[in-house]
Amino acid sequence: MTEQSSSLLKVLFFNATIDSIKDAINKINQLNSKAGPFTFAFNINLIDNLSSIKETLDSTSVRYILLSKKEKNPGKNRSASLIQLTNPYGIYELESGFRIAYIKFDNDCNKVMKNIIPFFTKFGEFVDVLVTSYNQIETNFNKEQQYIIDSVIKLVKPFYHFTPNNETSDFVEEMPFLWDSVQRPARSLKIPQLHMGKKWAYAFNFDILKSLEVPTTLRSNPYLPKDNRKRKPLCIDGEKNLEKIKKLKTVQPTNCHFCFTNDNIEDHMIVSIGNNAYLTIAKGPLTVPQQGLPFPGHCIITSIEHIPKLNCRIKPSSHVFETSLYKEIIQFEQALCKMFAKFDMSIIVSEINFENAVHYHLQVYPVPNKYLDKFNISLEKHIHSNNEKYTSNAKLNFKKIHSVDDEDYKKLINNPSSNYFQFKVHKSDGEVEIFYSIFDPQHRLDLQFGRRVLAYILNQPKRIKWDSKICFESKEKETKNAQQFQELFREFDFTDAS
Ligand SMILES: [Zn+2]
Repeated sequence: MTEQSSSLLKVLFFNATIDSIKDAINKINQLNSKAGPFTFAFNINLIDNLSSIKETLDSTSVRYILLSKKEKNPGKNRSASLIQLTNPYGIYELESGFRIAYIKFDNDCNKVMKNIIPFFTKFGEFVDVLVTSYNQIETNFNKEQQYIIDSVIKLVKPFYHFTPNNETSDFVEEMPFLWDSVQRPARSLKIPQLHMGKKWAYAFNFDILKSLEVPTTLRSNPYLPKDNRKRKPLCIDGEKNLEKIKKLKTVQPTNCHFCFTNDNIEDHMIVSIGNNAYLTIAKGPLTVPQQGLPFPGHCIITSIEHIPKLNCRIKPSSHVFETSLYKEIIQFEQALCKMFAKFDMSIIVSEINFENAVHYHLQVYPVPNKYLDKFNISLEKHIHSNNEKYTSNAKLNFKKIHSVDDEDYKKLINNPSSNYFQFKVHKSDGEVEIFYSIFDPQHRLDLQFGRRVLAYILNQPKRIKWDSKICFESKEKETKNAQQFQELFREFDFTDAS
């Protein structure tokens, strides 16, 4: 194995009890030959007695990490692929340097609870993952345990925090947040037990040598003192507050994917730059070349300024339609619509206006006209699963309008505190339909909702995730796609550079 490949890990965290662990191991072994190999599989639940699964464990090629108790008679020839974490808390480091911190709140732990925070304080470094587990007779952490967990999170700032959900069948994935001072994104996940919930494991790839990408949409950091994260209420008095809000909102634009201040901006993907917005091809496009179009066509219109949404509290407007940013976005949309019409395609634009978003942008998907009829069905289908199946998601209820002159719509757009999701269907004959839904910003918003709706229309179920293998394109391919896009777009480009 080369140095480079060993920095790339594929890891799996799962939740199995003593009753379901045999099943889990069998399933993971199968998964390992299909989607692996996994660097390891970590059970986040407590397994006290390993004797009943000895044989199962000895015949597996996957490396399992289990939170277990010290065995009185460990037996001989225990498989080298088994790692038992028997201490109540600690840090396990892999050869690659990947670090997992863990705390098991069981009876053993109760005796040493006061040592936990000093231990992690002394450790003094960050970890990649934190696993916090508890006795299955409890349904959740008690106050003291929760205090310890919060303190440890602040100390070790894990990228991922896993907790078993032993109470319900819900897989809970909180929206990520950022440790601003060190630019570390953080995710927290609660995984239900195998046989309890539909999803009982979570796998991800991790490159030890690369810093983790900051997600485009973040919630405010729940571990900062309340006063620091509360934004000023609606009234904005003068420059001072504006400056403050700006600071609070800003995820250093040097790290923002869409900001030109970021030295690592993917400028080989940019198609056209206007005065207020620019057009770039999408990374990991949902669409594929078709109908004579030589490149995927999925593209993004984004504001040049680092703002979270079209009408935001940093820069509020009561006449959004008159702003130069809005006008330029519409110009881009119309130009794209004309360009794709040449290939008998229309465009569907999906857009999230969310106060906690990092940088405002619109996803533009070319859709062959023959598939346009599928939009209504797809939207309804996905609203249903969003609202009924994923009950912790922010509810979406779309209203359809045929013109931006709709009074309710105007009110929504012109209110800087509104949060809404919208699709604009620009048909190649010039007709426009808008579907919009407000949502509660306190609830979890499915950021992939738009992509899901479009994947169904375009018959591309495997391309839902932009960072999946199937969607990946090399830099050379991206450059070529952008160049071809540019050549075709030139005829419709209204910006100065054209
Ligand atoms: Zn930005």
